[in-house]
Amino acid sequence: MSRRIATQVLVVGGGPVGLTLALDLAWRGIAVVVAETRARGVPPSVKCNHVAARTMEAYRRLGIARAVREAPGLPADFPNDVAFRTTTTGIEFARIHIPCRADRYTDRSGPDGWWPTPEPPHRINQIYLEPALAAAAAAVPGITLLWATRVTGFTETAVGVRAEARDAVGALAIDCAYLIGCDGAGSETRRAIGASFSGDALIQRTQSTDLRAPDLIARMAAPPAWSTQSLNPRRSANIFAIDGRERFLVHNYLRPDETDFAAVDRDRCLRLILGVDQDFRFEILGQEDWIGRRMLADRFRRGRVFLCGDAAHIWVPFAGYGMNAGIADAMNLSWMLAAVLAGWADPGLLDAHEAERWPITEQVSHYAMNTAQALAAARGAVPAEIEDATDAGAGARARFGAHVTTLNTPQYCCGGLNFGYFYDRSPIVAYDGEDAPGYSMDQFTPSTVPGCRAPHLWLADGRSLYDALGPWFTALRTDARADVAPLAAAAAARGMPLAVLDVPEAAPLYPRRMTLIRPDQHVGWRGDVPPADARALVARLCGAPP
Ligand SMILES: Cc1cc2nc3c(=O)[nH]c(=O)nc-3n(C[C@H](O)[C@H](O)[C@H](O)COP(=O)(O)OP(=O)(O)OC[C@H]3O[C@@H](n4cnc5c(N)ncnc54)[C@H](O)[C@@H]3O)c2cc1C
Repeated sequence: MSRRIATQVLVVGGGPVGLTLALDLAWRGIAVVVAETRARGVPPSVKCNHVAARTMEAYRRLGIARAVREAPGLPADFPNDVAFRTTTTGIEFARIHIPCRADRYTDRSGPDGWWPTPEPPHRINQIYLEPALAAAAAAVPGITLLWATRVTGFTETAVGVRAEARDAVGALAIDCAYLIGCDGAGSETRRAIGASFSGDALIQRTQSTDLRAPDLIARMAAPPAWSTQSLNPRRSANIFAIDGRERFLVHNYLRPDETDFAAVDRDRCLRLILGVDQDFRFEILGQEDWIGRRMLADRFRRGRVFLCGDAAHIWVPFAGYGMNAGIADAMNLSWMLAAVLAGWADPGLLDAHEAERWPITEQVSHYAMNTAQALAAARGAVPAEIEDATDAGAGARARFGAHVTTLNTPQYCCGGLNFGYFYDRSPIVAYDGEDAPGYSMDQFTPSTVPGCRAPHLWLADGRSLYDALGPWFTALRTDARADVAPLAAAAAARGMPLAVLDVPEAAPLYPRRMTLIRPDQHVGWRGDVPPADARALVARLCGAPP
């Protein structure tokens, strides 16, 4: 007889999105099982190098921001900058300043220094991030981690989902109320719910190499950087520093005419990119040939089964916002699931997840694709004289440096993607007629228009507003005389947890006397006077018919 376990939520896939979802669900009191095919301690391949500020805000709430920042990776003083050079060891002609880990909370210079957040971005590769998340999850009693366990299928019933899995011992049945497919781009869950995956199937061919090169930093003519773009007429690439000493991830961007990966000489390309000769020694730790695409599932849900992260959407990893968009999905779904499972929200609340997240991910996918295409065009137009030790060469470097700085700053310092997006078609947001301010990849205007992220500020007592918010809904009052009683009574009648927070110093940012902030820090409603029908508003916020 097969073994059987039961849980409230089964997360399929223990990548960054699945682990973050599990952590947030457990924080909200939900029992979670995470099934992951990799064995305990086996890291993923080197992929994402950037944990967005918005993700770090989520980790702050979960109490793990410090653990993530102190996880292995780049040394505290290693420059997090983006450098542009003729080769990795060649002439540097531009640099975007991004504060190193030691200065991240204090250095306000640079294009992301102005962001109103308690948690600026963090540069760390996924090989270090995932173990930090796994360690945090292992310490939470509500989370059961099943390593070396593959979910092989599931059946949905009116009351739940039964998943079939296999581990080293054999078959395992997992009964749950909801199953969330965080199983990556090749998601079986996506196929099982009949979602199509469509978009742009070819944007950029890339030959990636995980490299050990202990002598590379010593050969550099300029200080090292987190990301170093090699731009010359022969071969262009992007090199990420992984451990700040000897390990690098090299993305060799193939030219449009290079359609056959096998025909591209990896060793020769690496030497051209690094600017080193045959004597330079390096060791290849891993390699991957991959095609950057822009693909979205046409649905993120069927019944009790949901998709999050790469299972729902993939795009070229430009704009540093693949993993982080997936984590934003998870933070959106988590509180909704937890509220429904707790019994005070209506199952209709779950319809809001796709209504809110699908348009955002669609939009981000286009930002990423457009950036990838603009960068490919720039790589194809590197001035012929860029390496010349002449006035013409210096002029070309200055002009091209300014051009690539303008092109790249929005993707590496993407404030709009972090904080500017808003949910404008949500069934659970009480809109009031004012349009949310527009935003671009890097620019945004903090706003309390319902659907926007609640603007952050430091409170008079020095705390972050986000540390003062309740775990569920919070009624933020800028005027303690504003009548919050009808709202509080309606919330209490329904069992919807609501904290009241008086923050008079928020008035310049919060133009209404009352702003209702959801558990995911987006604005659900605002007003100077109590809502005309507080019960109907609370029902709406909870996904129920009025
Ligand atoms: C070269 C490269 C660079 C990138 N750079 C960035 C970047 O700078 N910024 C950024 O935000 N993103 C970046 N990304 C994207 C980022 O790596 C992904 O978006 C991210 O890993 C997605 O996380 P996920 O948890 O959704 O999926 P995954 O990381 O793919 O995790 C899915 C997990 O599910 C497991 N799994 C699959 N099927 C099953 C099953 N049936 N049962 C149990 N477990 C299963 C897998 O083993 C895996 O661990 C990059 C990607 C690449 C390829």
